[in-house]
Amino acid sequence: MMYITKRMIEIRNLLSRVGQSSSVTLPSIVVIGSQSSGKSSVLEAIVGHEFLPKGSNMITRRPIELTLVNDPQAKVDYGEFPDLGLARVTDFSLIQKTLTELNQSVPESQCVSDDPIRLTIHSPRVPDLSLIDLPGYIQVAGENQPRELKRKISELCDKYIRGPNIILAISAADTDLANSTALQASRRVDPRGERTIGVITKMDLVDPEKGAAILGDKQYPLRLGYVGVISKMPVQTGGLFRRESSNLLASINKNEKAFFNSHPEEFGPNSGAATGTITLRKKLMHVLEQQMSSKLTETTDAITRELEETTYQFKVQYNEQPMSAESYLAASLDDFKHQFHNFANTFGRQQLLELLKDSLDQKVLDQLAARYWNKPIEDLFIAPAEPDSLVDLPKADPKSPYWHRQLDTACSGLTRLGVGRLAATVASNAIQANIDKLLDKSSFAKHPSARQVISEAAALVLADRAYATSDGIEISLKPYKFDPDIQPNEWEKGREHVVGVLQGELEQCQNALKSLESSVGGRKKLREVMGFVDKARKGEIIIEGDHPSGAGGFSAALLARGREAVFLRDRADIINMRIVASKSRKCKSLENKYYCPEIFLDAVATKLAQTAVLFLNVEMLNDFYHRFPREVETKLNEYMNSHGGNGLEKFAREDPKIRRHLDLVQRKELLELVLMKIQDLHRFDAAGNVKADRD
Ligand code: GDP
Repeated sequence: MMYITKRMIEIRNLLSRVGQSSSVTLPSIVVIGSQSSGKSSVLEAIVGHEFLPKGSNMITRRPIELTLVNDPQAKVDYGEFPDLGLARVTDFSLIQKTLTELNQSVPESQCVSDDPIRLTIHSPRVPDLSLIDLPGYIQVAGENQPRELKRKISELCDKYIRGPNIILAISAADTDLANSTALQASRRVDPRGERTIGVITKMDLVDPEKGAAILGDKQYPLRLGYVGVISKMPVQTGGLFRRESSNLLASINKNEKAFFNSHPEEFGPNSGAATGTITLRKKLMHVLEQQMSSKLTETTDAITRELEETTYQFKVQYNEQPMSAESYLAASLDDFKHQFHNFANTFGRQQLLELLKDSLDQKVLDQLAARYWNKPIEDLFIAPAEPDSLVDLPKADPKSPYWHRQLDTACSGLTRLGVGRLAATVASNAIQANIDKLLDKSSFAKHPSARQVISEAAALVLADRAYATSDGIEISLKPYKFDPDIQPNEWEKGREHVVGVLQGELEQCQNALKSLESSVGGRKKLREVMGFVDKARKGEIIIEGDHPSGAGGFSAALLARGREAVFLRDRADIINMRIVASKSRKCKSLENKYYCPEIFLDAVATKLAQTAVLFLNVEMLNDFYHRFPREVETKLNEYMNSHGGNGLEKFAREDPKIRRHLDLVQRKELLELVLMKIQDLHRFDAAGNVKADRD
């Protein structure tokens, strides 16, 4: 058995995972030839299967790195595409289809790509070989092909035919050897013909004497010689059925024997001519084995050097700190959970209450604006001369059903606005925003997809409880919808609080006025236009409609700002008055609630918020704290197992720092493995086995 080749091919494939390590290259057989020279037919005959892309317009655009693994255990032949995660493909027409698709993935404008397709074929009938099929040389670029296609193919082949690779130069017997592009290319890099095997296809198409003359060629002598083959597909019998692939080599062999044996003088044992695909296969095995063995010491030295360098870098850069995708994920998750735990300890009922009350304050202001402030309310109060003087409250009759109705409507507008939904939304948004903030500060910030998975896990858990929570809250608030039942102490608290809310609103009005001022170019200008608007409102000036070019020397845009400013000024005046009113003695008493709607609504809002929060805390927050960490684990697991089981590695590599660390650790581990395997080979060699094997 070709023990060395098998092991060296394994090592070669391992090394290809180490990455760019130019110092360690193990020999492979590169197959070159002109288009239609019969290159694919030869390769398929060696493998014993039809599997290469076909079709008149089919130009191979990527190298195919083909590893043949002699696998005595394999019950059926199968192929694997390690880079695609495609394992054990027993249908060779599917392999052909996959290769065709991968080939077509190179855009025509790019012509060819040097990114190889890796394919491994396991069979008890193939020898251990490492072959690289390259795009066929083209003589004249076709009508629809870019001009540089020819040059690019040639450059790609040049990359691969360098030493220590063995060149399998394919030429057809019915073309002049002097014109063989494959032989011309190989002579450029291997002028003494030391690592080139010449393959002459289509031997059946020339006279036996001419054929024999080509094989014994003296003009282009090759140390490894020429082999003549006839690898044309045997004529198909059996109608629609695909040819039994395992018989492919056998039938080609039969075909070749029939031809070569019928010309014993030219091709017989005494002719010195090497013929037949079986002979070619043996030669390939032998030559590759020799080339691999001769590289054993050199390769070992190169790997040892590379490992030393990697180990040194590991020490210097990472202080030998281990790293794996698993450990990175575990550490990131631990850290996140820790931060989450801290958050859970600081965000509870009180925080929810404040948030909800803030939102309800806004709703209270909306109600006040809608029911009181936006209407002429001069008759509700008269502005006091000084804050503490007794406010001359309504001129209107306090018993007037109008004011009762106003307050009742405002109050039910508040209790019936859907506090359940509002509370659930406020809580969900706040929790979600906090989780997102935690994520931004965690290592998941560098992993957008995983970050999204966690963020969505939070959304899912929250959404899950939203309906039941909001429903529960609505039920618990039902009594307040009919009678809010405000107590004196609640009134007192409402009075204290609402003044702050009104002051906040006042400040906003004033800030908005200021920014209007600067947007029109100063206070003076704004005053002018406000004066104009005021006059217009009082009817002192008549503006006919919204004239697009403005009025009174002011542009339409300026007038719009002026109106806005007048509104804000009036709103600020009203709020100012209401602050004073709320602070006044009259408003100390719950009895005067019809004159102090701000306080009453605030007290109602507090009541609503307090009741809602009891529910929120249990139904939503505690449930979230319990379920979220579990949900994160489940969802992250699902995510990591996606991408053909590659998710974890992909995840860790998204962070460039981790990727570099991982690369180095994995490179070191791979090199250690390779070195161990190659040392085993040395022991095998030292025991004299290689020589025996070679003989
Ligand atoms: P490639 O373009 O170099 O891969 O060439 P193919 O393997 O596709 O072969 C080109 C054509 O030559 C096909 O029609 C094959 O059937 C034919 N062919 C290949 N080998 C032989 C052979 O040994 N004898 C004959 N007569 N035809 C062959």
